[in-house]
Amino acid sequence: MSIRLLSSEVASQIAAGEVIERPASVVKELLENSLDAGARSITITIEEAGKKLIEVADDGSGIPSNELELAVARHATSKLARSADLFSISTLGFRGEALASIGSVSRMTITSRVQNEQEGARLKVEGGMTGSLTKVGRTVGTTGRVEDLFYNVPARLKFLKSDVTERRAIDLLVTRYALAYPDRRFKLSDGKNVVLQTTGDGDRRAILAALYGVDVAKQMLEIQSQEEGYGLTGFISPTSLTRSNRKEITFFVNGRWVHDVSLSTALLQAYHTLLMVGRYPLTALFLEIPPEEVDVNVHPAKAEVRFRNQEKVFSFVQRSARKALLAYSPVPNVAPSLWGTTRTVPPEQPRHTGLDWAIGHDEQLSVSTLRGQLSVEKDQSLANQDKRLEIDSQPPASTQNVQSAIPLLRLIGQIGATYLVAEGPDGLYLIDQHAAHERILFEKLMAQHAMKNIPSQSLLTPAAVTLPPHSAHLLMAQLPTLQHFGFDVEEFGPNTFQVRAMPALFMGSDPSVALHALVEDFEEDESPLQNEVEAKLAARVCKRMAVKAGQALSNEEQRALLHDLEACDSPRTCPHGRPTMIHLSVDMLERQFGRRGAR
Ligand code: ADP
Ligand code: MG
Repeated sequence: MSIRLLSSEVASQIAAGEVIERPASVVKELLENSLDAGARSITITIEEAGKKLIEVADDGSGIPSNELELAVARHATSKLARSADLFSISTLGFRGEALASIGSVSRMTITSRVQNEQEGARLKVEGGMTGSLTKVGRTVGTTGRVEDLFYNVPARLKFLKSDVTERRAIDLLVTRYALAYPDRRFKLSDGKNVVLQTTGDGDRRAILAALYGVDVAKQMLEIQSQEEGYGLTGFISPTSLTRSNRKEITFFVNGRWVHDVSLSTALLQAYHTLLMVGRYPLTALFLEIPPEEVDVNVHPAKAEVRFRNQEKVFSFVQRSARKALLAYSPVPNVAPSLWGTTRTVPPEQPRHTGLDWAIGHDEQLSVSTLRGQLSVEKDQSLANQDKRLEIDSQPPASTQNVQSAIPLLRLIGQIGATYLVAEGPDGLYLIDQHAAHERILFEKLMAQHAMKNIPSQSLLTPAAVTLPPHSAHLLMAQLPTLQHFGFDVEEFGPNTFQVRAMPALFMGSDPSVALHALVEDFEEDESPLQNEVEAKLAARVCKRMAVKAGQALSNEEQRALLHDLEACDSPRTCPHGRPTMIHLSVDMLERQFGRRGAR
């Protein structure tokens, strides 16, 4: 075949392939146009998961009738004039491609009117062929109507998922945009039912309830953080509320929904040591940074961005989220029905099961911040009402001024050489000695590390440790880091190392165990950030060095453990995210013994 120029029809279908992948992409482009046009109210109608019809009507500024033909042409935009503008984009659109792309793969009708014209105009584009302009009466604003998407690209149609899936993608997209723009009114309907309707009153948590349900929305922690021209607002889930994948981690950057690995990594770092391995938070976060610091022109569907100052963005997000999390991390509370059962319940759906990680959390959050904020409380189940009773009987959260701290505990003793039993002002605490000690060692070590002062102690007899070749290789790479941590380790022969000093914190423990711990699971560390590597390293060593379950402790040791735990910043979980303690409240004990309430 000889070389020839593609017909404009084929060329635009190829281009459309990048931008318009599925019905939800059409919705996204039309929505973004409405938002760019300053619409206060946006009505979206879909039929057959958007395959038959997608209509987006807005009350924005409109398109002048003499520009309508241009609007649907490729590379035609009112949002960008010079190439320099590309580096300070404050609109969602700028590529001038969406309408042309949609028009080339569907039957599209754009109807629009601007303020200073008496009438509106309508233009049809079918499979890339533009029809003629007609005059119509309408209010100021624009309606984009897209019928029979991909009717002329049957191959695309075949790639679409089930109607349920495509429909869900649209619902989620619109809800997320509604959340990002709480001051605009959104209405999504499918021809029969209204799926989502927001009031535009700016209340994000109510929209969050539409996305995740009232229960989850109530538990989400709010973030409001400002720093040097950067702003982060929105919600993150408490540590008791997780998912098994990252799909619910969403970020908007300057009003644009983006998928950015560095942002989710920053967020996950904030949760570091607070979540169980393999669990991920839910978030709806909105980052605002000066437009000239983001490059949005790196992805055809504008779903990715690049930051001028990646490190700064990263640390801002990480710190903001961490602060919100540490301000609130609860002691898991044991529900009465737990007695006699074991914990086999996945933490994400604890609400209707025995051990309820979320209850203690939910109660305090409701008391302190949330009560009355959500009006959607009508159809409470019996279980929920019961829980609300408990809410009311809880002491106000303000009695504990730092919520993540634990109360002063009076030691009662040790059971099974594994748990400490203690009394607090509000009942009984069972403390896992290993998890607690792990947390204590970790925080001490990290604090000393932050001060760049880890007391190191020489071993009377240096210990020689031989590692498997692969591990030895990993350890070699970490020798400088180890030095920061107070280890004095030297290569001593093939795959053999000599430990001459260890952090004083670990004195008395077996140095070879420490070395093995340092390289264990190391492959899994993929973070580019040195401080995360170090925190993981520290967490691993502390786990190995901590007292074990089954180890009898003297009275003195038990007391010291409790005392040290009280002094921790995050006393309620071990560095790997497991709880260090469970709490049996006085209230719960009274019910259990039939002293109060009917149960
Ligand atoms: P872009 O958004 O990248 O500029 P589009 O193809 O999406 O490109 O739209 C082309 C132009 O049409 C926009 O620049 C804008 O001027 C106009 N336009 C599209 N949709 C709307 C709308 N809903 N309200 C007002 N103007 C619109
Ligand atoms: Mg656009």
